[in-house]
Amino acid sequence: MAKVLIIGAGGVGQVVAHKCAQLPEVFTEIVLASRTESKCKAIAELLIRPIETAQVDADNVPELVELINKIKPFLIINVALPYQDLTIMDACLETGVHYMDTANYEPLDTAKFEYKWQWAYQEKFEKAGLMALLGSGFDPGATNMFTAYAAKHYFDEIHTLNIIDVNGGDHGYPFATNFNPEINIREVTAECRHWENGEFVATPAMSLKQSFTCPDEVGEYNIYRMYHEELESLTKHYPTIKKAQFWMSFGESYLKHLEVLGNVGMTGIEPVNFNGTEIVPIQFLKHLLPDPSTLGPRTKGKTCIGCVVQGVKDGEQKSVYVYQIKDHQDCYQEVQSQAISYTTGVPAMIGAKMMIEGKWMKPGVWNMEQLDPDPFMEDMNKHGLPWKVMENPEFDLI
Ligand code: NDP
Repeated sequence: MAKVLIIGAGGVGQVVAHKCAQLPEVFTEIVLASRTESKCKAIAELLIRPIETAQVDADNVPELVELINKIKPFLIINVALPYQDLTIMDACLETGVHYMDTANYEPLDTAKFEYKWQWAYQEKFEKAGLMALLGSGFDPGATNMFTAYAAKHYFDEIHTLNIIDVNGGDHGYPFATNFNPEINIREVTAECRHWENGEFVATPAMSLKQSFTCPDEVGEYNIYRMYHEELESLTKHYPTIKKAQFWMSFGESYLKHLEVLGNVGMTGIEPVNFNGTEIVPIQFLKHLLPDPSTLGPRTKGKTCIGCVVQGVKDGEQKSVYVYQIKDHQDCYQEVQSQAISYTTGVPAMIGAKMMIEGKWMKPGVWNMEQLDPDPFMEDMNKHGLPWKVMENPEFDLI
């Protein structure tokens, strides 16, 4: 039904390309473009049908406009880095093409994780009759859908939200990140914020932890409270939420390395002068670390990501846990990637599919929970991310 342009040929881009290629009746033509075209070509060789590739610097609007005008896609799936969100949105407006991404815009010099820059495009997209879908990955993305699904089908009003992201996978390296190291470390070292009684409350990074036992024998893990971008949109769109927190599991080795790297200044985002050359410590660190797209064959274990929602239904207090479990090696068998890239890339493909099929098409800039969760949840079951609902789980969460 439509031609798409995927921008970004990293771990997530590879999964999106695979999953779109599996659905020729929806994604009739696919172009994969990135800064380094050889990476696009390497991905193209793995796919079940031919796609086109291209080179583009997505920081450069005129270059993007030239490419888009040549390709004439219906939609751009942006799986480059959060720094490119606004330039790609500008190019979409200039060329009359729909937009979607998996992570909110971040300026290079400040790790903020705020939607304000992209929400500011609401009127421009609406006037142009174009749609921009924000955050269609797993978290944000599927977690927004889980919350919206629970709110729609299980509650009259929701009051508490705990998003819990457990990665029970092991890649065997003492320290590596499962997605772009720069983005991952900026996220993990950022000050923690959670929503409580109408405002965000700040606490030091990684200062609160608890133990969480995942269902279906995935195991017990330490989860740490941290800030995550979907908290901003979900608390805005569900004003009845009194408390919202995001938790992620980390292993001892990961935390120990991160602490040391932070102490010696290797996670800094400010440029430093080294022998007459400006370098950004975190970018240099990224250069030294294993490329996340190479972790696929080594990573064993499962991810378990879900939302515990509490609220009222017919005057009764209740809680619901909506969750998804994915095996790293199953992902590798299917698309030669580990589960972190897989669980991000599949919702990106489904978000694009929702727009192409017209199930979600409306002009403006939208977060996932502003759209009907049902067709999206149905497609998660069909395309590799089956989920479950547990009513009144016996979790004793902080
Ligand atoms: P990678 O670093 O593996 O890949 C990023 C890709 O973007 C690379 O191919 C890179 O090119 C390309 N790129 C970077 N800058 C530019 C540019 N200026 N112009 C064109 N291409 C560029 O990252 P991931 O695949 O791990 O992550 C992709 C996105 O997905 C990120 O925004 C990340 O935050 C998001 N994400 C979202 C998640 C969610 O659940 N919502 C979870 C995980 C990731 P090059 O190879 O030349 O560097």
